[in-house]
Amino acid sequence: ALQCGIVGLPNVGKSTLFNCLSNAKAQAANFPFCTIEPNVGVITVPDERLNKLAALVDPDRIVPTTVEIVDIAGLVKGASKGEGLGNKFLANIRETDAILHVLRCFDDENVTHVDGDVNPVRDKEIIDTELQLKDLETIESRIQKVQKQAQTGGDKVAKQTYEVLVKYKEALEQGKSARTVQFESKDEQKIAHDLFLLTSKPVMYVCNVDEASAVNGNKYVEQVREAVKDEGAEILIVAAKTEADIAELETYEDRQMFLQEIGLEESGVSRLIRAAYKLLNLETYFTAGKMEVRAWTFHKGWKAPQCAGVIHTDFEKGFIRAEVIKYDDFIQYGSEAAVREAGKLNVEGKEYVVEDGDIMHFRFNV
Ligand code: GDP
Repeated sequence: ALQCGIVGLPNVGKSTLFNCLSNAKAQAANFPFCTIEPNVGVITVPDERLNKLAALVDPDRIVPTTVEIVDIAGLVKGASKGEGLGNKFLANIRETDAILHVLRCFDDENVTHVDGDVNPVRDKEIIDTELQLKDLETIESRIQKVQKQAQTGGDKVAKQTYEVLVKYKEALEQGKSARTVQFESKDEQKIAHDLFLLTSKPVMYVCNVDEASAVNGNKYVEQVREAVKDEGAEILIVAAKTEADIAELETYEDRQMFLQEIGLEESGVSRLIRAAYKLLNLETYFTAGKMEVRAWTFHKGWKAPQCAGVIHTDFEKGFIRAEVIKYDDFIQYGSEAAVREAGKLNVEGKEYVVEDGDIMHFRFNV
């Protein structure tokens, strides 16, 4: 399953955020390193379309799609040299597909900051530096392995690999993350991807603010915005502690009322989940039958057989064709039969690239 890792210095609010995101209650305490084991939460992706489809079909059950979120234990300065929980932390990040970088953007004398004062830009740089140093270590050891082969023999792959490594090395030595380096050829892109560098993963900055700043942010958020403006990364404002309190409320109505009181239409957590989904380059297709109306996750750009494989590998192997209804058509005509009658049901083959929102019916041999 696809995973987003939550990273950040100790006491910035990772566990608090993780608690609101997942049902599994991780331990939130005013104590660095309280989240020692990576906690994995399976989060449902909120999607209005699923409910609208279900209202028309009236199925026995409704199944939303999910993303996994991992709360990764605290990182401190020196982690790349094994300080704190350094190496374990870094190994956990390597396994994730995208990073949610939590930054402390709230004042609270009762919550210790590991570096004395609140400064999200410095915090971000501490983490970036540790990850970059680790990547540099990876790159340097790879360079040693291919250098000779690349410079003496005529091995094309070794040469290309060497060039990719050198490009990365230059960027990292200048304090830039691997994700800022672009490769033009498909070969190079593949080589780059297979290095699984920590700083090449897509990142989103999550500014954890106090309740009063939940809607418009604060001076810390502005500092972060200014610092990352050239990265093209998304910034999300969440008041984690407030959201954790909201999550404790019994009914949906109570939770909505509380959100409205602080000026939010949608919880920061649900904005976060959707943003994470986008960050992972994921899209959703639906299946709509009497038994269940269900959302399925696929990678943007996948073709029909691959998408069928998400349901079952047999669907992919025996794929014959797919009957596809566009979401808007389903809503307009109200049922599969009515869509079919209106001539809006398309029969597609192996090459069809599935689009976000498609309602799919796969035909296959067993
Ligand atoms: P982690 O080490 O990054 O996982 O941080 P935690 O989630 O354990 O939070 C550390 C402490 O900060 C806890 O006592 C939280 O209650 C508190 N905290 C987290 N978010 C906020 C916030 O938005 N505002 C305030 N005032 N305190 C927070």
